[in-house]
Amino acid sequence: GAGALEIDARARCLQCDGVRVSAGDWLTIDGGAGVVYAGRLRTVPGVPSEEFRRFMNLADRHRRLQVRANAETPEDAARALELGAQGIGLCRTEHMFFASKDRLLSLRAMILADDSRAREDATRRLAPHQFEDFREILRVMDGLPVTIRLLDPPLHEFLPREPAALEAMAEQLGIPEAEVAAKAEALAEFNPMLGHRGCRLGLTSPEIYDMQVEAIVRATAALKAAGRDPRPEIMVPLVGSEEEMARLRERTAAVLDRVVEQAGIELEIPIGTMIEVPRAALVADHIARHADFFSFGTNDLTQMTFGFSRDDIGRFLPQYLESGILRKDPFESLDRTGVGQLVEIAVERGRKERPGLKIGICGEHGGEPTSVTFFHRCGLDYVSCSPYRVPVARLAAAHANLGVAE
Ligand code: PEP
Ligand code: MG
Repeated sequence: GAGALEIDARARCLQCDGVRVSAGDWLTIDGGAGVVYAGRLRTVPGVPSEEFRRFMNLADRHRRLQVRANAETPEDAARALELGAQGIGLCRTEHMFFASKDRLLSLRAMILADDSRAREDATRRLAPHQFEDFREILRVMDGLPVTIRLLDPPLHEFLPREPAALEAMAEQLGIPEAEVAAKAEALAEFNPMLGHRGCRLGLTSPEIYDMQVEAIVRATAALKAAGRDPRPEIMVPLVGSEEEMARLRERTAAVLDRVVEQAGIELEIPIGTMIEVPRAALVADHIARHADFFSFGTNDLTQMTFGFSRDDIGRFLPQYLESGILRKDPFESLDRTGVGQLVEIAVERGRKERPGLKIGICGEHGGEPTSVTFFHRCGLDYVSCSPYRVPVARLAAAHANLGVAE
């Protein structure tokens, strides 16, 4: 969405408003104000003061909504706890594969594999890494829920684009360069956000989800054996139909049962879904038959309801806002009139089928005060947002409950 940046990938630099920044240069970011400064400014650690803590504790006594954080590293999880998060509402697993060259290479081998056996071989190499990722995050969040989302993005995002990088990858994997180039081309999509991603990947290449589920169960079992209290929840992304959820639930539960039996322990791991495709909201009663919880992915839900690509909105949104076609950026503040209706429908239909169904929201709106007010009124159980927005959400939830919010 930062359309003002002129990026020269070859020269590894960018220009904006007459300022040139090269790879390796320092920048200082004020995330609160949305300002980027050239250079390295003096900063202080954002440690909450005692007064701040007391004020937030006061707010906590007046809210009904729980507040969780979106985090996928132990460091982010610890920061979220420090800021008062009551669990993790979204642990995006895709970023974990970029954590080392080794992992990325195994994932790429999986993507380029021709058959199920080759995919299984490649995912087996990823398993120990994922086990560690999940164990560490569950260890930090001991006793609190951690919703782990199975792989979501389209696979081409994990492949290099530059010809030189493709060539290097072909060499590392021992696959002819032409073959790699052909596969990369075959994976390219016109609308990747509406393409082969989310649960569609899980259904067509089940090996990756199997590996992730197994790693979650093994990490949980290891922590339990060490006397800890891990509480993972498994979340399937981008579900739009009952059959998708039914099949993935069945497969996930089968892996879960098998590994639990091997480990010889008692374990209950909820299996739920994101509600982020408009159709999922409309058929929420059907989907709820197979889901232990719902979590609204309001980023995708907004994207698909408006038909706005969230990656391209920067081209027209400023003009829309300036001319009053839109009053607010719907990716920042939930559009109650349109997207909000889908949230209300899904809550009503989901809970009609499954009374007491736990429902949260983990899109960016989870940390935006007027959206939090709306989610409170819809009867959601929790909101989940980036760690630094947790205090904002805690306060907004209290305001909503006290009836002093917009
Ligand atoms: C969402 O769509 O709201 C969501 C949380 O998932 P992501 O942003 O990763 O697509
Ligand atoms: Mg999404």
